[in-house]
Amino acid sequence: MDGRCTSALCCDMTAFPTLEEARALDAADPLRARRADFLLPERLIYLDGNSLGALPRRTAGAVADLIERQWGKDLIASWNTHGWIDAPARLGARIAPLVGAAAHEVIVADSTSANIFKLAVAACRARPGRRTILSEPGNFPTDLYVAGGVAATLGVDLRTVPAEALVDAIDDDTAVVLLTHVHYKSGHRHDIAAITAAAHASGALTIWDLSHSAGAVEVDLNGSNADLAIGCGYKYLNGGPGAPAFLFVAERHQGLLESPLSGWMGHAAPFAFDDAYAPAPDIRRFLCGTPPIVAMAALEAGIACFDGVTMADLEAKSAALCDLFIAGVETRCANHDFTLITPREAGRRGSHVSFAHDQAFPICQALIARGLVGDFRAPEVLRMGFTPLYTRFEDVWRAVEILGEVMDTNAWNDPKYRVRNAVT
Ligand SMILES: *Cc1c(COP(=O)(O)O)cnc(C)c1O
Repeated sequence: MDGRCTSALCCDMTAFPTLEEARALDAADPLRARRADFLLPERLIYLDGNSLGALPRRTAGAVADLIERQWGKDLIASWNTHGWIDAPARLGARIAPLVGAAAHEVIVADSTSANIFKLAVAACRARPGRRTILSEPGNFPTDLYVAGGVAATLGVDLRTVPAEALVDAIDDDTAVVLLTHVHYKSGHRHDIAAITAAAHASGALTIWDLSHSAGAVEVDLNGSNADLAIGCGYKYLNGGPGAPAFLFVAERHQGLLESPLSGWMGHAAPFAFDDAYAPAPDIRRFLCGTPPIVAMAALEAGIACFDGVTMADLEAKSAALCDLFIAGVETRCANHDFTLITPREAGRRGSHVSFAHDQAFPICQALIARGLVGDFRAPEVLRMGFTPLYTRFEDVWRAVEILGEVMDTNAWNDPKYRVRNAVT
């Protein structure tokens, strides 16, 4: 431990600690009790909660109750008696504190991809005459694909500009800036407040994709004057595979922006069955069809794992876990040609760490075979996600040991680790 430490989670990681020191960090971790909220296979080191969050202990019971008691016994009355109809707004209100929003500014609906479409069309229409959607090359594929679809639908252009040139590229032709807060591959974290301020100075709107930040690091949408945001339910929010996503519309925009997917659940009075569409006055206007209630129950159980957790604790632990992994790889695997592509400074990255290596794919497969689950991201990135709710410092320590062993012994260099499945 370093004499300059200001908290038990902050120490000088330039010297990689012993297993006992890693365990001492766990003992001092204010989030240590949260791991018991999850069902994690014994002996597995799961560093992929940023792709698919782990299964919360309460989820199976919550989904069984939804199916057997609510759907099975109370049937259609459950829309009212069990609050099904309110689930999108209720879950949104529970996500709001994790992203620095007010309860009535977040709603759960559809997929992240569909929410990008809804908000990007709405934003472009709110800036008529402007012809550019601005993003960055290498943004998450669906963000660029959907933005391209929006551009084709509206007859505007999608322009991508490297991160360092983004602010200068915003001009009076920019309708909306669409960016992912924490980059899925590099882990680079944008400054929401600074880019939003630059967009506003040119009269443009911003859409922030929080898929790799919500539930992992501090996000302050209202403190950053953000306009619009979307995010994923199955990563750090632990909602289960294909969980519904969320979207944020700042209160000041809610009466002005309209969803292009004007479905009946976004109507001011869905059960008036009126022929004419009239959007709900509030954020509910961004709903489209009937919410997937079974999936909503799983997502609600996932979000409940954050009850009583502060964003400051998440951010501090995320930073310490990532620091530990970087220091570990750089000391234990110093001679194995790993290149860190994630920012070293904790405030400039999210909660995952990526190293480039030309054998990243077979290395990742060899790690999985040894019970260390991380991600390969084409073409040559090894990515490890450190979910602050349930990852222990001891897990990070063991992950470094396993990686070191796989590299020292060349165990990765086996034809069986070169076979690729459909999902990598
Ligand atoms: C995971 C992720 C998505 C997921 O979109 P889906 O519609 O749920 O498939 C979108 N954007 C980013 C940045 C992501 O990381």
